[in-house]
Amino acid sequence: MKMSVLLAPTLREVPAEAEIASHKLMLRAGLMRRASTGIYTYLPLGLRVLQKVEAIIREEMDNAGGQEVLLPILQPAELWHESGRWDDYGEEMFKLKDRHGRQYCLGPTHEEIITALMRMEIRSYRQLPLLLYQMQNKYRDEIRPRFGIMRGREFIMKDLYSFDRDYEGLDENYWKMYHAYARVFARCGLNARPVEADPGAIGGNMTHEFMALADAGEAEIVYCAHCGYAANVEKAECVVLPVEKSGVLEPLSRVATPGVRTVEELEKFFDRPASQMIKTLIYKGKDVIVAALIRGDHEVNDTKLARAVGLMELELADEATIERVTGAPRGFAGPIGLKDCKLVADPAVMELENGISGGNAVDVHLSGINPGRDFTPHQVVDIRVARPGDPCPSGDGTLQGARGIEVGQVFKLGTKYSEALGATFLDENGEEHPIIMGCYGIGVTRTVAAVVEQHNDEHGICWPMSIAPFHVAIVPVNYRDEEQKVAVDKLYEELKAANVEVILDDRDERPGVKFKDADLIGFPIRITIGPRNLAQGQAEVRKRDVGEVELVPLNEVVTHVQEQIRKAIERESTCSC
Ligand code: ATP
Ligand code: MG
Repeated sequence: MKMSVLLAPTLREVPAEAEIASHKLMLRAGLMRRASTGIYTYLPLGLRVLQKVEAIIREEMDNAGGQEVLLPILQPAELWHESGRWDDYGEEMFKLKDRHGRQYCLGPTHEEIITALMRMEIRSYRQLPLLLYQMQNKYRDEIRPRFGIMRGREFIMKDLYSFDRDYEGLDENYWKMYHAYARVFARCGLNARPVEADPGAIGGNMTHEFMALADAGEAEIVYCAHCGYAANVEKAECVVLPVEKSGVLEPLSRVATPGVRTVEELEKFFDRPASQMIKTLIYKGKDVIVAALIRGDHEVNDTKLARAVGLMELELADEATIERVTGAPRGFAGPIGLKDCKLVADPAVMELENGISGGNAVDVHLSGINPGRDFTPHQVVDIRVARPGDPCPSGDGTLQGARGIEVGQVFKLGTKYSEALGATFLDENGEEHPIIMGCYGIGVTRTVAAVVEQHNDEHGICWPMSIAPFHVAIVPVNYRDEEQKVAVDKLYEELKAANVEVILDDRDERPGVKFKDADLIGFPIRITIGPRNLAQGQAEVRKRDVGEVELVPLNEVVTHVQEQIRKAIERESTCSC
């Protein structure tokens, strides 16, 4: 490909819309352009990268026994009513009507449509197991679309669904996919780590997320360097350590605390640490009000709390609800004397001796609170967010924290969708059973952004060889110089003939401009041909990532470059999985 004809509109300035490195660089390198909020157009170079990621995923899915299909984006509402998710999915679903008034959605995911397909096609256990996947656009009206294609409203996902007759089969496919995912990300040059996660709204009982480690990641994870435990903080179990107690229980007292509201203000006022306070947060869910009790230095984990009370979602209550339940405005809630709500306490709260909390009255707090003596929760359950420094729940180590970009997720679904939609099979005895399902997603477009996030420097992107838009860029210092042009054209043809993906920067630009663009776009190898080296019959070959430069005789450039490409791809695909 010649640069003079390629649509690769690079930008010198950082676009105002972009906050994180991958978003800035994908725009600046001319890989994509924004069409609307969370909706992007891929330009030729961006599309090449995307297609390479897709090719790696296809290879790994096919190797694991997957068969590719293509499911519709436009999905009838009836199927979503059958699964119960038409209402449950909420505002994130794009809904629309056809000319006859029939309702549809733009698929945010495809469990319903594929389960309906299986209901039609699967009759017998002999047709199982089955692994079907697709590479397809998904539509989600995200509350906060941001960071370019990292969190889009239209994005590409690879979704695979497994269908088995029993849980042993599901288990086998789950781990097969888990390992295939580890290989996909390693081959794309991503440092991604599987972590235990919460099954959330999709249902099911076991799931791992693959997190590309990056500061720009929206997810927080904790891990133990000692035993390898790793989990999303939403999921990570919190261990309760016993607290040293005096055994002397103070009487419960009301204390006037004018103008004192926050935990910090209370710490000053009472001269006691936050770890001796009880925070009381009022939540509202479908048909229930929940008062969550958590230690002053801890945070409530909304996901754990919702799960504890058997709901999909809970949100912090409004002012009117708080007043009704506590008898006071926001900021004075405490566990004693609440009305019409379910009291859920974190186990660490139950360890407190002579604690302090709000008094459910304006400018009043209570001290000398002793759980069990002064209040009894309806439920004591882990509802706190894990944090670095906590003890590891599965060994002797201490948890460390990191941020991650969720690039993929594997789920054991069980029979949630097959039962709801009636997808069954007959066993050897002619008995009917629901098909056991799993689902497995990779954010294809997000993976590209995550790779850029992990592979860049102040000059631009440093693509891993496996997914680079082109392996090599040839940059002539002056393409109008006849001698250089002849040498460069010859090399370009030879490289193409050797199946090396090569760009020739034939533009009439200053060398500095061409070098800057090559670095910004991030071709892994740059070959520079200028008068001085040409006189020696040599070309300069430079590796983008490490900046290493070698002078190579012109007649050896093709084999030299082929060898570098081969080695790089081999290195990238080595994965301990
Ligand atoms: P998130 O928690 O980031 O919103 P999710 O858990 O809702 O993601 P899944 O339903 O598990 O996403 O989808 C599978 C994969 O699709 C995710 O692991 C992620 O890589 C990708 N993905 C999900 N939402 C988006 C989005 N809005 N834009 C780009 N990729 C996405
Ligand atoms: Mg997910």
